[in-house]
Amino acid sequence: MAEVLVLIEHADGAVKKVSLESLTLARSLGEPSAVVCGAPGTAGALRDQLAEYGAAKIYLAESDDIDGYLVAPKVEVLASLVTGKSPAAVVLPSTNEGKEIAGRLAVKTGSGLLTDVSEVAADGTATQVVFAGAVIVQSTVTTGTPIYTLRPNSIAPEPAAAAGEEETVDVAVSDAAKATAVTERVIETKTNRPELTEAGIVVSGGRGVGSAENFSIIEGLADALGGAVGASRAATDSGFYPHQFQVGQTGKTVSPQLYLAAGISGAIQHRAGMQTSKTIVVINKDAEAPIFELADFGVVGDLNKVVPALTEEVTKRKG
Ligand SMILES: Cc1cc2nc3c(=O)[nH]c(=O)nc-3n(C[C@H](O)[C@H](O)[C@H](O)COP(=O)(O)OP(=O)(O)OC[C@H]3O[C@@H](n4cnc5c(N)ncnc54)[C@H](O)[C@@H]3O)c2cc1C
Repeated sequence: MAEVLVLIEHADGAVKKVSLESLTLARSLGEPSAVVCGAPGTAGALRDQLAEYGAAKIYLAESDDIDGYLVAPKVEVLASLVTGKSPAAVVLPSTNEGKEIAGRLAVKTGSGLLTDVSEVAADGTATQVVFAGAVIVQSTVTTGTPIYTLRPNSIAPEPAAAAGEEETVDVAVSDAAKATAVTERVIETKTNRPELTEAGIVVSGGRGVGSAENFSIIEGLADALGGAVGASRAATDSGFYPHQFQVGQTGKTVSPQLYLAAGISGAIQHRAGMQTSKTIVVINKDAEAPIFELADFGVVGDLNKVVPALTEEVTKRKG
């Protein structure tokens, strides 16, 4: 069966969910081979999970040169695997890093690239939701090795045990790839909340929340549901919530099982980042707000009353 390379994104000794989704997607195109890039000793903790989710092979590209520089060494590793193994396709996560690597890999290997795909059929036809969600496009790559970046949360990761046979890759990083070095890593203070783009539940607040202090009610509901917190641009621009949590065209794209929007009007730029969510629940005091057009469930009311009441009910039901 044709080999499909899957670049694995990982953190703190665990495979990121989007990479488990990528392995699942790759199985529809051929036999997945995971590519793990990182410092020496990175892959050990990931091996079992990769095999569980269908990696027949695991390429180990472990070197201080991978860890010490930005994306260029990873591009060189993938490019040499594309040349040496002639895979049927390459799948990467549609994260900032994944997309940068994919673009560079496409140029290096003379291949076509489809970004932000939500599914890929067995014949390689990819589906993308574009123009702020207004158009669904189906495309195929006609040149070189098809390269896809998979939008997080587009498909459910499914285990399918495979051999996970390890093969060490020689990491020969060129001087050009060492042009930008990592000089310092600062560990972000983490909450217990899931990462926004990977979360199964996202609770977002907009300008209607009214203040930074009042965002605590949005956080309270997110915590009760075990979800992530998002925000509209009006909320982040007003300083209610940090910019890294902005959802939309110029923020993050999310596609959770449940998206709950409170005090958000539903501008096209906000919709662009959330309208592929599976179930959308809206709380807005204006029954004419455009966001209701997307809603599976809507509550016309004051979020200051509805959100705390919802949090209380969720907490009560959880016991
Ligand atoms: C190039 C460009 C890129 C952009 N990118 C993004 C982006 O990535 N993400 C994004 O979100 N926006 C983006 N925007 C901005 C976008 O156009 C909107 O201005 C923004 O989404 C509005 O945010 P909002 O819905 O929170 O605020 P508003 O449009 O002001 O809506 C606030 C809503 O809260 C409701 N409300 C008020 N008080 C309450 C209450 N007590 N209870 C319940 N409801 C209440 C109101 O009825 C209203 O519907 C972009 C704009 C441009 C031009």
